[in-house]
Amino acid sequence: LPVPAFDGVVFGATGDLTMRKLLPSLYLRYRDRQFGDESRIIAAARSEMTEDQYRARAEEALRSFVGAGELEQDTVTRFLARLTYLRVDAVGEAGWSDLASLLAERPDVVRSFYLATSPELYGSICTRLRDCGAISPQSRVVLEKPIGHDLDSARAINDAVGEVFEERQIYRIDHYLGKETVQNLLALRFANPIFERLWNADIIDHVQITVAETVGVEGRGGYYDKSGALRDMLQNHMLQLLCLLAMEPPVTLDADAVRDEKLKVLRALQTIRPHEVATHTVRGQYAAGVAGGKPVEGYLTDLNTGERSTTETFVALKAQVNSWRWAGVPFYLRTGKRLPRKVSEIVVQFRKPPFSLFPDEVTGSEPNRLLIRLQPEEGMRLEIMTKEPGPGGLHLRPTPLDINFAETFGRGFPDAYERLLMDVVRGNATLFMRRDEVEAAWSWVSPLLDAWAEKPEMPKPYAAGSWGPTAAIALIERDGRTWYE
Ligand code: NAP
Repeated sequence: LPVPAFDGVVFGATGDLTMRKLLPSLYLRYRDRQFGDESRIIAAARSEMTEDQYRARAEEALRSFVGAGELEQDTVTRFLARLTYLRVDAVGEAGWSDLASLLAERPDVVRSFYLATSPELYGSICTRLRDCGAISPQSRVVLEKPIGHDLDSARAINDAVGEVFEERQIYRIDHYLGKETVQNLLALRFANPIFERLWNADIIDHVQITVAETVGVEGRGGYYDKSGALRDMLQNHMLQLLCLLAMEPPVTLDADAVRDEKLKVLRALQTIRPHEVATHTVRGQYAAGVAGGKPVEGYLTDLNTGERSTTETFVALKAQVNSWRWAGVPFYLRTGKRLPRKVSEIVVQFRKPPFSLFPDEVTGSEPNRLLIRLQPEEGMRLEIMTKEPGPGGLHLRPTPLDINFAETFGRGFPDAYERLLMDVVRGNATLFMRRDEVEAAWSWVSPLLDAWAEKPEMPKPYAAGSWGPTAAIALIERDGRTWYE
């Protein structure tokens, strides 16, 4: 459905995120006529540049990051004509009155301010937006991750933005929430009573969430080294997945109803106490190894600072949600760089039958599993036990009931940013994080960060191309379980 006319201001418009994600997503939404020529995109950054120069860079970005089959020259030309470039200095005076004048031409359309800059600039940009009179009642602001690097810094960012914008106007992006499969979790759970009836500790043995990357830190070592796997992936994306899996049914799909339920899960997460850090968490750092069949260097060499770094490129942990529904059901989470496969996957493992009619050597010992794949190809698979055909006896084996979304629906899915950018214009905040959620997530990881900071040891090494340190295998095997691979 078309969205209302808008003026979309993108701060950080010359940056990597804008070029790789935001412009391609906006182009695709324009091509599909979700918005038209009544909307404008105002690109703002620090560099001095003419409009033509900016449009040329934007065109180059579209050619690099939009599939060739999706580029239509006429549409590209019309899309580029929607772009205006303004030099605006987030910490100085340049550009603000020009921006205000441009926006004042259309006081009644939706205004979105997308902050694709370093988070240190968020407070300053918001204050300047207010001081130059650019904020209308129809305005909203979009914040990119990371919202802080710990609880205090997250609060400071939220306070600074909150001085200018009301909470209902603030859209904190977690692009995982824009993925179709993640939204499908809501459909799976709340439109299919057959699953929701099974969704509890009586039937579910445990849950695994894996977000594995094959890449190393590439050119982003400077950023990554200040962050690490816990902050970069687990505190935000993976805890959001856990919330959607574990939350109670919301009373409606309104933004606050859904976010209230997710918040309850975050608050119910059992604190990992200092004496449990060693047994409930594993930090790793990749060493030299093999990726994609080629030898690759370790993290410290990739960083190229010549210094030792205790930043983790892998983290695994065992979490527990203290609620009636989930008592005694562990949630095992792991994420890392330079792992063997690029995969984001949730595995819900059900309990074995309380009593087996089939002797173990015949059934094997495979429990039912529901796999929810976010990437590479989005889909779901339910593994059920079936009899192997043939006269040779009663041999059972797990067989998949498989849905590959792209095959089923006959087309690829839009990128998460396409959905989220349009949700901002529509004013639908369901798939964005509220302040209290972000802060509750930081509160939960804070004891881990504190414990690691108190004893700054080197993370456990793992060879690039392996599934992380052996301690991560031990973490789950101590409980008599194994990672699904
Ligand atoms: P980037 O490539 O370093 O771009 C930074 C942008 O900020 C540039 O457009 C730069 O403009 C602008 N800028 C810097 N100082 C400014 C100032 N004083 N006034 C106005 N503009 C200023 O960064 P990025 O990788 O795109 O990341 C942007 C944000 O998105 C960060 O918060 C990052 O954590 C987040 N993020 C990025 C990715 C990603 O894949 N890149 C993914 C998730 C989240 P000039 O070039 O003109 O100086």
